[in-house]
Amino acid sequence: MARYTGAECRQCRREKLKLFLKGDRCYSDKCAFERRSFPPGQHGQARVRKVSDYSIQLREKQKVRRMYGMLEGQFHKYFEIAERIKGVTGENLLMLLESRLDNVIYRLGYASSRNQGRQLVRHDHIQVNGRKVNIPSFRVSVNDVITLKEKSKKV
Ligand code: SF4
Repeated sequence: MARYTGAECRQCRREKLKLFLKGDRCYSDKCAFERRSFPPGQHGQARVRKVSDYSIQLREKQKVRRMYGMLEGQFHKYFEIAERIKGVTGENLLMLLESRLDNVIYRLGYASSRNQGRQLVRHDHIQVNGRKVNIPSFRVSVNDVITLKEKSKKV
């Protein structure tokens, strides 16, 4: 699937929230949000516009989508799947997002960001239940065993 390749920090500044997209840099004083915590662009520091209900919903959706490094199309597919599963759609959506392989790699501490986790997966460093998996959106199930490839451990 396609992915966002633009400036990461811009997304945090737009959402007015640290999304931790860049690993170690996010914890250093080089973090762009720490330096310029206003929205990006020519009108970033302009007078704050009235906030509508729609804009609140949109910004919350964008935050989640950007945290998991997805574009609109793929995110929408996740939403449709979450809607079909029994239970609360929002919780189902988060469950699906959390079970992505790139996210699990990040949560396990193998990578310092989801982006880095994605790269580890794409570059064939990860095995699930002893088999190579290079699809970042691979859905991890309970009891799946995730390991680094033997060769990759030496690097
Ligand atoms: Fe966001 Fe990290 Fe960039 Fe800071 S360094 S603005 S937390 S991506």
